[in-house]
Amino acid sequence: MSEPRSAHLQEDDPLLDGVSRLVAFIFGPDRVTRSRTVAILLCALMYVICCWAASYVAEIGLIKAFAPGLLMATAFPAYAVFFGLVRSGKTRQLKDPALMIPQNIFALLAIGFAYTALGPFDRGLVMVLIALVMVFGMYTHTPKQSVVVGLAAMLMLGACMGVLSHVDPHYYPPKLELIRFELLLGTMPPLIFTAYKISSWRNRLFKQRTELKAALEQVQQLATHDSLTGLHNRRHMQEKLESAVMRFDRYGERFTVVVIDLDHFKQVNDRHGHRVGDDSLSSFAKASLAVLRDTDTIARWGGEEFLILMPNTSQEKTQVALERLRAAMASCTLSATVPTLRITFSAGVAVHDSITALSQTIERADQALYEAKKTGRDRVVMAPSSKR
Ligand code: GH3
Ligand code: MG
Ligand code: MG
Repeated sequence: MSEPRSAHLQEDDPLLDGVSRLVAFIFGPDRVTRSRTVAILLCALMYVICCWAASYVAEIGLIKAFAPGLLMATAFPAYAVFFGLVRSGKTRQLKDPALMIPQNIFALLAIGFAYTALGPFDRGLVMVLIALVMVFGMYTHTPKQSVVVGLAAMLMLGACMGVLSHVDPHYYPPKLELIRFELLLGTMPPLIFTAYKISSWRNRLFKQRTELKAALEQVQQLATHDSLTGLHNRRHMQEKLESAVMRFDRYGERFTVVVIDLDHFKQVNDRHGHRVGDDSLSSFAKASLAVLRDTDTIARWGGEEFLILMPNTSQEKTQVALERLRAAMASCTLSATVPTLRITFSAGVAVHDSITALSQTIERADQALYEAKKTGRDRVVMAPSSKR
């Protein structure tokens, strides 16, 4: 059976690698920059088409002869600057990283210029371009910016119509300009209102998405962590242990399970109150996080019991880590209410080093912990290897 074609286009495919490097070189290194530079190039393409159309219109005498040249001489440098700034990432920290507002201002000026340069009977067509500017803006502007852009367009064209029909009534016939002004008054307010509404919906959607993401993170945190100590909870640790067992079965990566139980904890509660007991549990959690390695995972296994999962750890390294934890517990303040309070712990250690059920390894660690309690507490007991 032949492989599907896409199977050949792996990440390390030299052809694909070359193409993606070329794309990154032209459009920018990351997805967000690329979407911005592509949008700028699309707008630039629109100006190319407009310049080409303007040249043709100048040839047949419907626009002032200097107009296409002036449009080209301004639009291309302006878009080269917009593209360069966005592509270089210099605008990333700005409130308007895609430079939509400068692009809009330029577009409005170009529209105003085209309106004044076109012949008396054709300049009305230019008004369609304002709708294009407004529609583009709906996807990037804030509601306020949409209104400002719409009003600016209306004012600018209205002023052109009013002033020019007075200054040069031959090229700008007042009656025609009045009809166009009425058209402007009739079409712009609904367009501005629509742009405002769509920008508002977009803003609200964005806000809701951000809130939803934060709520999801909070739910995930609650589902996987213990609320008192902030450590992973039993269920999450169970999942981590199961993945560790899978890795052992597949790759032979041994791991160590340490079950820790605080000594005489009931007495702490009885003597100093539940609050001091809670503070001590939190302090133990903090101390353990400070001394364990990043690759170790500790969870609250229940009440005053904790479980540490240490990947690829030798017995000596486990002893050293637990000794560090013992020293930290001996020197830290467990509860500000009772600064002199000291609590010790007992630990049972078992290495998962043969293909057995996870429950058996935990059971061996539990047995070792029981041994530690029986032989005087404040100590670490290693379970014998499960290999026969
Ligand atoms: P041992 O050395 O044999 O482990 O003695 P112990 O007193 O620590 O053990 P025991 O099982 O008799 O008591 C455990 C105590 O831990 C009883 C329980 O009230 C307390 N405990 C469990 N969870 C919490 C908690 O969230 N907050 C507080 N303050 N105490 C807790
Ligand atoms: Mg206990
Ligand atoms: Mg205890």
